[in-house]
Amino acid sequence: MHNTIENILAIKEELNLINSATNIIAVSKTFDASKIKPLVNFGHIHFGENKVQEAIDKWTDLKKLNEDIKLHLIGKLQTNKVKFCLPLFDYIHSLDNLKLAEKISSQQTKLNFKPKIFVQVNIGNEIQKNGISVGELDFFLQECKTNLDLNIIGLMCIPPDDGNTKKYFEEMHQINKKLDLKELSMGMSSDYMEAINNGATFIRVGSRIFGERT
Ligand SMILES: *Cc1c(COP(=O)(O)O)cnc(C)c1O
Repeated sequence: MHNTIENILAIKEELNLINSATNIIAVSKTFDASKIKPLVNFGHIHFGENKVQEAIDKWTDLKKLNEDIKLHLIGKLQTNKVKFCLPLFDYIHSLDNLKLAEKISSQQTKLNFKPKIFVQVNIGNEIQKNGISVGELDFFLQECKTNLDLNIIGLMCIPPDDGNTKKYFEEMHQINKKLDLKELSMGMSSDYMEAINNGATFIRVGSRIFGERT
């Protein structure tokens, strides 16, 4: 059996043990189509990429041949890339500013296709990280839903690497619940179980499935 399949089965086994129905997004960034295909053929549905152009190159044909696949954009999205990003991506995890929200809104109207969207939250208030601050979330969501007709399904975060991951995940869970959002995107190779224990409904797992990136 192929490595990537064994790896994802091992993760599913872990999830089964705790009766978790969390969705596993296989983050295939930097890996080429030949490395991805065995997982696609195995029937895996959710895949993640962080760059629009790379995703277009790798996924345009793969998606045509496998219509069940759901592609997730997990990296920074520049406004000038939005027109290339839809409808290839079914989910966007990195909505982090109003200009981008407006761009997505007009593009989805043009295409008559609404992507599912996570609002990225800068849960650790880190200068170097993207995301809406917790204090601005209410206003931002209001704008997105009411004025821009975006299909916001939940929040997403990349917590600081400061040993307090659990605390950040708990906080995200609370906020997500308070806002009555259904989905929560958090957890990577090193901390996905912690994320699941705190309500993650989508985990984004790369190296644990595909191996180390070079
Ligand atoms: C690369 C990436 C991941 C996957 O990281 P791993 O540690 O390889 O599991 C998850 N989320 C985002 C936003 C990423 O850029």
